Parts: sequence; C-alpha cells; structure tokens
Amino acid sequence: MTQARLMDGTALARRTVEETARKAAALTERTGSAPCLATVLVGEDPASVTYVRMKQNRCRKAGIESRHVALPSATTTAELVGVLRELSADPGVHGILLQHPVGDHIDERAAFEAIAPEKDVDGVTFASFATMSFGLPGFVSCTPGGIVRLLDEYGVDPSGKRAVVVGRSAILGKPVGMLLLARDATVTYCHSRTRDLSAAVREADIVVAAVGRPRLIRGQDIKPGAVVVDAGYNPGNVGDVDFDSAVERASLITPVPGGVGPMTIATLLEQTVEAAARQLGA
Ligand code: NAP
Repeated sequence: MTQARLMDGTALARRTVEETARKAAALTERTGSAPCLATVLVGEDPASVTYVRMKQNRCRKAGIESRHVALPSATTTAELVGVLRELSADPGVHGILLQHPVGDHIDERAAFEAIAPEKDVDGVTFASFATMSFGLPGFVSCTPGGIVRLLDEYGVDPSGKRAVVVGRSAILGKPVGMLLLARDATVTYCHSRTRDLSAAVREADIVVAAVGRPRLIRGQDIKPGAVVVDAGYNPGNVGDVDFDSAVERASLITPVPGGVGPMTIATLLEQTVEAAARQLGA
C-alpha cells in the first residue's frame, strides 16, 4: 500500500483567508464599515491569551477589525453574560468569540447563549448547533466547519460512508458528527465509555479523532484506504492519531500541525465577514 496523501490545511487556510480578505475589503468599500470581531477572554490562561492574540493578528491581516474585552478571572456568570449581551446589541460588532475555557465557576452554557445567533461566528450557541444539525444556513463550529472544508477540498464525499468520530465535545466531536450526518454519512460517535474503540475505528471509511489523547488511534486499526482527520493537538505538536503507522494505511490524512488547526481560524474569519455582510445588508 502506498502512503496516504496529506490534506494540507495550511495551504487551504491561506487561500481561504486570502479570499476572506478580498471580501472584507469589498465590504468595507461598499458600506464604509469594516467587519469587526469582538474577542472576550476571562482570566489569563497563557494558552488562551496566545490563541486570542493569534486570532486578532489574523483578523488584522485580513482587514477585519477586532475589539478585545479582557475580564479578570473572578468575573461572575452574570457579569460575563452582561458583557456578551452588550456586544450582541452593539451595531459596531459583527461577530463575537468567547475564548474557551472560561473557568469552572462560570456557567459556560449561559455565557454562550448570551451571544446573539447572528453574531455567533464561532458556532457555539444552541441555535447554531440546531442549524448545523439540520444542514440549514447558519454559523458552524469553526473546527468542524474547517474539517468539512478540508474533506471537500480533497474530494471526499461523506455520503453513504461510515464515519467514526472519536470524541463528543460540544465544540468539536458532536458538531463534526452532525455536519457529516447532514452530508449523509453513517455516523458513529465514540467516547470515553466506548467498549471497543479499535473495533469501531476498523469499520470507518472516515475517522475523525477529536480526543486530546496523544496517538490514541493506531495505524493497525485504520481500514486500508480510509480518510483520517486528526483534530487532536497535544503537547509536543502530537495528534490523537499515530501518524507514522496511520499514514501507511490511509488514503488521505491530515498532518499535525498543518492539518485541521489552520482551518479553524480561517473558518472564524470567513464567518465574521459573512456575519458583517448580513448585518450591514450588503
Ligand atoms: P474534550 O472536551 O476534552 O473532549 C474529549 C472527548 O474525547 C470527550 O468526548 C471524551 O469522552 C473523549 N475521550 C477521552 N478519552 C477517550 C478515550 N480514551 N477513548 C475515546 N474517547 C475518549 O476535548 P475537545 O475540546 O473536543 O478537544 C479534543 C482535541 O482536539 C484536543 O487535543 C484539542 O486540543 C483539539 N482541538 C483542536 C482544535 C483545532 O483548532 N485544531 C480545536 C479544538 C480542539 P467523554 O465525553 O466520555 O468524556
């Protein structure tokens, strides 16, 4: 068996961001207002600070304004909800991103639900989950949306295929499964209580690893010719798939880094410009 072809998320993200920057410039020209993403960060978790800064930098390069709200880690749920409602009502803000995690003392779901659906460019509200699940227009969760874009780019049609999603988090596993179901895949979810993970993975035409456990999925369990998407990102730039063994059996595989990761921000920027276009009626 020959080695799998790599699904190059860095290259696709670059093209997507270039296209988004063109749309942002045209929108600014037409309406006199640049698209604006508000980022909200609670506390000073170093990884979250880095992620938010990265998102702001990418916004700037794409001609999207960003407005940052930094809140102390002692912020209450009510205070955070108040901030998100204000941003939701502010006509100068077109998209809102609440950086996850917000701290255990905060009701994250209550905070997400304070984001107006038309500004939910990170796809975290119940409203977005519903439209995603029904395949209706709306904003998708960014990592799952980026994964589906990668599959499209490499000509992978999920229809009729058996897709196994390992992980069921609200931001990643669950929505990516729903997006694949909306595209007529037969979807199986695996999680920490799954009895025989290897057996489930062996059945998959498409494997999506979204776990956060380094190299949990081994090449010996990959069906020859399967498509392998590794959303995992663990310390040391290691994915949830054992790349060296999986690449020998898969037909297509995402590298870590350079696969799913870059597509997440690209999808966020794309959806921010889309939100601005809708709100500005342009
Ligand atoms: P999470 O909220 O911790 O969810 C992990 C999921 O994996 C849970 O559903 C859990 O099951 C399941 N799981 C844990 N151990 C398992 C095992 N041994 N066998 C099978 N399933 C198991 O994580 P997340 O936020 O979804 O993130 C997952 C990974 O994706 C992480 O590495 C994260 O860094 C990465 N990620 C990457 C991006 C990106 O842009 N590239 C974005 C988001 C996340 P239970 O539900 O039963 O607990």
